[in-house]
Amino acid sequence: MSDAPRPIRQVVIVGGGTAGWMSAAALANALGPAAIITLVESDQIGTIGVGEATIPPIRMFNQSLGIDENTFVRETFGTFKLGIQFVDWRRKGEAYFHPFGQYGADFDAVPLHQYWLHARQNGDKSDIADHCMAWVAASMGKFDQPIPDRRRVQSTFDYAYHFDATAYAAFLRRYAEARGVKRVEGKVNHVAVKGESGFIESVHLEDGQTIKGEFFVDCSGFRGLLIEQALRTGYEDWSHWLPANSAVAAPCEAPEDPIPYTRATAREAGWQWRIPLQHRIGNGYVFCNDYISDDDATETLMANLPGKATAEPRILRFTTGRRRKFWNANCVAIGLAAGFMEPLESTSIHLIQSGITRLLALFPDTSCDQGAQDEFNRITMLEYERIRDFLILHYCATERDDAPLWNYVRTMPIPDSLRYKIDQFRSYGRIVASDFELFQNPSWLAVYLGQGVDPERCTPLAAARASAVRSTEKLAGLRQVIREAANVMPTHQQYIDRFCSARSPV
Ligand code: FAD
Repeated sequence: MSDAPRPIRQVVIVGGGTAGWMSAAALANALGPAAIITLVESDQIGTIGVGEATIPPIRMFNQSLGIDENTFVRETFGTFKLGIQFVDWRRKGEAYFHPFGQYGADFDAVPLHQYWLHARQNGDKSDIADHCMAWVAASMGKFDQPIPDRRRVQSTFDYAYHFDATAYAAFLRRYAEARGVKRVEGKVNHVAVKGESGFIESVHLEDGQTIKGEFFVDCSGFRGLLIEQALRTGYEDWSHWLPANSAVAAPCEAPEDPIPYTRATAREAGWQWRIPLQHRIGNGYVFCNDYISDDDATETLMANLPGKATAEPRILRFTTGRRRKFWNANCVAIGLAAGFMEPLESTSIHLIQSGITRLLALFPDTSCDQGAQDEFNRITMLEYERIRDFLILHYCATERDDAPLWNYVRTMPIPDSLRYKIDQFRSYGRIVASDFELFQNPSWLAVYLGQGVDPERCTPLAAARASAVRSTEKLAGLRQVIREAANVMPTHQQYIDRFCSARSPV
């Protein structure tokens, strides 16, 4: 009788990085006083301190917590992000943009890019990016809120944020503590697991404290203190597809107004990120140490900073892949404890968010029923694999042959799921989506075309309808309307100064 399932009343979160405090904030908001939430973190260990570029769904996370956007941007030294510019990925000297939002506005049941392909087949030289509100605004350094009226091109873009990772965790900590989350400072040195059930009972700290719980969220970072070190869940290694295993990071002064997008520049043995914030620029070189030494990677990064460095460069190591199970017994891993894929498309913080959303949807009672665990693991695995394939596309479709890393990724075997999609696009420009696809058609389109996966022809339907719908004129009209709309937008800096400058008094 005493073992009958009942509501969970004690939740323990181990880790106070982005994952820990996002989890604490969301659980406190959703569970209210029904559960006591304790978060353990160790100042001695600290957080990873990177992770500053996001994708648009983060806005829903903030909205679900009732966070005011301007306050959030101001307090995290944030800026706005309309997409990611990829420089030198297909070939040196070329760049393309992965925009947030769509290309133009569909004027027919046939997708717009099919009409663009048809026009191109007939000699039109316009760039697909010129049909995209996010890119045209970003290229002019402009930013404004999208408008809700779906008949206007100003409704066709989306945006995310760049923010200071430490300030973000502190912001969420204030939010969570105000809603009753108890923070305990200390280093966990033992995790007690109950023999027959395999459930975690408590975590023990170096100073002698014991923290008991009924449900545990492992946000302890790469070490996976609970999910791996205590529960031995196992890890699936994806380094053969995404070989980067290191990064060197260094912030610098911002010599100019922040650009409203992230930049990812391909380098000899990986790529360099540039994340503009209000008070500095975040930079890092993600690399594979089979192809370049730490010293050489550091030298490359420091030689390519857009401003004066404001801290010493830091080396970070990782193994790309995922836990075999994200939820095991009464423990869910969120954040780096769950798995890692390089930040090429800024997906890690999103995976934290989607993990939390899924956990809330499946939040168990004390039995932690197998059905909830299986469903959590099934969807999370699919989500990871879809993102993995999207990242691999950036590498495998390169034409670069100037360095061993690029020769490896250009010729490596790729997952069948991705091969199928590439083949579909290459023949008729068909964009094939799978279930639980985070990145939608415009994202795949941007990367296919940017990387040079060129369709041989448009679909027969586009060819048949093009003249009836006057598609070439419509595309030209769209380009003009988009340019005019972007022209009258405020600059990114003007927008920040007006609504959310970290310099202005609150
Ligand atoms: P951490 O920040 O490592 O936090 C772990 C926490 O656990 C800390 O509080 C630590 O003190 C605590 N802890 C660990 N062991 C113990 C113990 N024994 N006792 C008590 N406490 C303990 N993501 C993006 O979305 N966008 C990006 O642009 C991006 N860039 C990245 C660049 C690089 C090079 C890397 C490596 C990652 C990047 N990420 C990015 C991922 C992002 O940094 C993480 O997803 C995010 O910071 C969450 O980290 P975390 O909270 O899981 O782990």
